[in-house]
Amino acid sequence: MRYFPLFLDLQGRDVLVIGGGSVALRKVETLRSAGARVRVIAASIHAELGTLAAQGHIRLVQRRFAAGDIGAQGGPRPWLVVAATDDRQANAAAAGAAEAAGIYCNVVDDRELSTGLMPAVIDRSPVQVAVSTGGASPVLARLIRERLETMLDESLGPLARFAERWRSAARSVIAGAGERRRYFSWLLTGPAADAVRTRRLAEADRLATRELARRQRQAREGDESSTVTHPPTAGHVTLVGAGPGDPGLLTLKGLRALQEADVIVHDRLASGEVLDLARRDAERVDVGKRPGAGPSQEAINHLLIERARRGERVVRLKGGDPFIFGRGGEEIDTLRAAGVAFDVVPGITAAIGAGASAAIPLTDRRHVHALRLLTGNDAGVLDSFDFSDAAAGRETLAVYMGIAQLPALCARLLRAGVPPALPVALIENASRAEQRVVATTLEGLTFAAESQRVSSPAIVLVGNVTSPQGTITGAELSTAAPGPDHPAATTLRCAPGPSRTPTSCHTR
Ligand code: SAH
Repeated sequence: MRYFPLFLDLQGRDVLVIGGGSVALRKVETLRSAGARVRVIAASIHAELGTLAAQGHIRLVQRRFAAGDIGAQGGPRPWLVVAATDDRQANAAAAGAAEAAGIYCNVVDDRELSTGLMPAVIDRSPVQVAVSTGGASPVLARLIRERLETMLDESLGPLARFAERWRSAARSVIAGAGERRRYFSWLLTGPAADAVRTRRLAEADRLATRELARRQRQAREGDESSTVTHPPTAGHVTLVGAGPGDPGLLTLKGLRALQEADVIVHDRLASGEVLDLARRDAERVDVGKRPGAGPSQEAINHLLIERARRGERVVRLKGGDPFIFGRGGEEIDTLRAAGVAFDVVPGITAAIGAGASAAIPLTDRRHVHALRLLTGNDAGVLDSFDFSDAAAGRETLAVYMGIAQLPALCARLLRAGVPPALPVALIENASRAEQRVVATTLEGLTFAAESQRVSSPAIVLVGNVTSPQGTITGAELSTAAPGPDHPAATTLRCAPGPSRTPTSCHTR
């Protein structure tokens, strides 16, 4: 081990920063957040440092650093020195003076001169994770930190404080160190931890109290079963929205649920790349409904309840968002009826994902004032809708599950007075590597989809916002009737991803 890791308590302690530029400012901010009393010596001073000094938050000495500033007889003796000038000689002088005085010195970005390195930090106080590459590559340290940031979500701090609060109670009630450890392991991974994460602190305390009493009882009765690592806990189901496919679009909460799951019950639309983020040894159950195949919704509901009752942590992973055409409502109803605890982690729904990855601003105020998400697989439902806002070009329509029924969708919209030349974009496999965008018009839609063999999953976005050419007003639209100038076939424009320039179709 080349460097010895140590967390310093700088609360109220003097730290000397040499240098007054933006790098020094960043260090001053970090040191202040750790409670240090900071003194800055520098010839020229960043305006914000000046402000901090004027507000009394730091002390400022505006002149060049001199060796006597550190550890001179009778002079102030800081606990730590940070040299952050852009002059290596000045930094070396500071480092030398610190060394002579027996004070650790960090020289920013210079491990040769430093006697201490500043790590990249993930701060979930009271939990802190510090990453160092021993100065080999600060960029690598930052990359590692970014990875850890996604794994260590913001609930870690509250969780640590929760465990801290129960320390003395556990110590007075549970005599054995091993048994206490098992209690805390339960506290930090079981239902009480889930409650802390979902900010149900009273519930968390209730569970912790009950479990402590149970263990105390068992200890008194000399019950052998008190030594099990994880007493059977009530299971839990988390509905997680996987987003449209790009794993980067999964939420941090969704990622955590996947990493803690015992079993993942997933749809066909929950992409493989998202599943790859799950805990390696979590069981995966594919309940993807394919036309005429796959388990029924009842069978899925039953599976969720049964696995939760075994005490497992179940993740129900769904494409997009669980509550947007995802039957999440039916699932939570059955869970509720069965008394199974659940929570819901939202996901980026296909319309939002497609809008972003095809650069279609769904509610661009220059064109529209509303966005309607609707299902296109039921002609009866479509017939029951009023499309006057879409006809007037005031509303964007995002039609899910519409590919198999496009002729019916087009017929319904045209009948409702939606202009044939209204721009339409078909986005297949939004956000995935295979994404295709087909830009067309309402009258060209069926032909475009057929000729380009657009297949599911694809979403149909209807409205002016989908036109790379900009607004077509209601009046213009109504005159843009099909005719020799507007044959359906020529309105088809296929384009690669976001730019949607009129070229032939590509994958992104
Ligand atoms: N709960 C999902 C929707 C499920 S319904 C969500 O919130 O996105 C299934 C329909 O969603 C598909 O028929 C398609 O219209 C749309 N869809 C899902 N993922 C898609 C993707 N990556 N690209 C385009 N459309 C998608």
